[in-house]
Amino acid sequence: MKNLSGIVRPLVAWYQAHERDFPWRSDPSPYRVWVSEIMLQQTRIEAALPYFERFMQTLPTVESLAAADENTLMKLWEGLGYYSRVRNLQKAARQVMEQHEGRLPASYEELLALAGIGEYTAGAIASIAFGSRVPAVDGNVLRVLARLLDEEGDVMKPPVRKRLSAIVWELVPADCPGDFNQGLMELGETVCLPNTMPRCAECPIREHCAVAGTAKAAELPTRTTSKPRKIEERTVFTVITDEAVPRVLLHRRDTKGLLAGMWELPNVLSDSGSPHWLEKQVKNCHDAPGGKHVFSHVEWRLQGQVLLVDPFDPPADYRWVDQTELALYALPTAFRLYTALLPQLLNKEDVQ
Ligand code: SF4
Repeated sequence: MKNLSGIVRPLVAWYQAHERDFPWRSDPSPYRVWVSEIMLQQTRIEAALPYFERFMQTLPTVESLAAADENTLMKLWEGLGYYSRVRNLQKAARQVMEQHEGRLPASYEELLALAGIGEYTAGAIASIAFGSRVPAVDGNVLRVLARLLDEEGDVMKPPVRKRLSAIVWELVPADCPGDFNQGLMELGETVCLPNTMPRCAECPIREHCAVAGTAKAAELPTRTTSKPRKIEERTVFTVITDEAVPRVLLHRRDTKGLLAGMWELPNVLSDSGSPHWLEKQVKNCHDAPGGKHVFSHVEWRLQGQVLLVDPFDPPADYRWVDQTELALYALPTAFRLYTALLPQLLNKEDVQ
């Protein structure tokens, strides 16, 4: 196996000269590094920045996060998706309050024991915020390693991942583990780019790379094709009451599975038709636009209906809310097409 020890110093020097200025870097407290790492899973840095600032202003400490009410938490995360991330964040904050007197533990193993913290996040917090000599291996790092070593195995497969991670464990320098880990990630984000020809001419470690400047660089890492997404045809009901101050019907999802525990607009699989209890209340109905929303494993093809009804007692897990109350709920972006209609509908301008 090729020896990569020569990449450490040039990579660290390059990172220190090129690091981009982000709020969690200018003040890398364990709490800020942790929240930023969770936010950046599945979210681009530019998109996460305003969320991070708002989150820190509202919940500046582990203690405030542990004590936050659910609506505040969901509102702060609204639009980022993958809501289980923020639920785990709070669960872990409560663990930190109970088991570590409100301070994030410095050890990699203790971090790993917290909800929602896997090997990558534990490595990032331990190395960046506490200076521990541990790696933080994410998709960017795996891509860089696969190219440096001309690794043809699928980096998402556990044996390949494990082998590459073991190499990074050996490389992390004791004097600047955070800069080394961030250097590898930054290189992957800005130079050793995914799904295209990387910018090898700008790479500080090209001398050590097995595929520098060759067509093979763009082909790696190898990925075996994943299972196609499941397609679901769904009908979304925007149910509005015919009263002086109109209200909209919300439904709370099951506490397990996709969008667990989130409030949403009522919806059903299109071929199952509208629920009987709802159908008999309808005074007026018109179609709303169709669209789609793509989750990681499922794609929703959406059709919409706006229903005007007299107020009635809905089943458990449903709730009427007026326009003022609606501002307190974080509805998933999957329903954006229909929630965008609500300001007008709740002003009683468009349902008659
Ligand atoms: Fe990536 Fe090119 Fe650098 Fe190799 S030389 S690590 S392929 S950017």
